[in-house]
Amino acid sequence: MNIRSRLQKIEESIPENVTLVAVSKTKPIEDLQEAYDAGIRIFGENKVQEMCHKQEVLPKDIAWHMIGHLQSNKVKYIAPFVSLIHSVDSFKILSTINKEAKKCDRVIDVLLQMHIAEEETKFGLTPKEVEEILSSDQFKALEHVRVVGLMGMATNSSDQEKVKQEFSTLHDIFEHLEKTFFPNLSYFNTISMGMSSDYPLAIECGSTMVRIGSTIFGQRNYN
Ligand SMILES: *Cc1c(COP(=O)(O)O)cnc(C)c1O
Repeated sequence: MNIRSRLQKIEESIPENVTLVAVSKTKPIEDLQEAYDAGIRIFGENKVQEMCHKQEVLPKDIAWHMIGHLQSNKVKYIAPFVSLIHSVDSFKILSTINKEAKKCDRVIDVLLQMHIAEEETKFGLTPKEVEEILSSDQFKALEHVRVVGLMGMATNSSDQEKVKQEFSTLHDIFEHLEKTFFPNLSYFNTISMGMSSDYPLAIECGSTMVRIGSTIFGQRNYN
């Protein structure tokens, strides 16, 4: 199967209110162009340099999503064009994004990445840390970032019950934060959860945005 037919199958399987992010990390420009020609306009990358290069050479109506862990000193390279940053996991990085967005005269949309998996290695904030950020005066003073929702990665496990529980936890945290910090603010509306292996389950648990790579582009080769 080629990229176009794989995409078609995925698009048929996700509801209309769920946004598909095509995760194109490590893949060559030709593969992204093929997905673009099949109608994809949202691409997810996890490395700053790679995303900047692809942004330069591909059509300008693409929305670029940063899904990988972000270092403060690299924010400036993506600030002029990035459409959504999924991986905000500290006040420090939020504050840096704000500073760089201001220089570009932009407001950058971000998601707060929550730690929902069992693995220690996955990045993300605890519910307590998120509440501390959202209730702080320093946060309220940031005029060039807009928190539009949450992102999370479930444990890489074949235990469906466990994965489901983690996604449901993220959904519950989202609803609690929405009620507490964003009442009547309709822009807080995104729950980014679900990848190739678990996106149907994530959608069942209330995902509004899935990040799918290998099911579209094939296995990644890291050599
Ligand atoms: C690579 C990656 C994905 C996509 O993973 P697949 O299993 O290839 O669908 C999704 N989210 C994040 C944060 C990633 O780094």
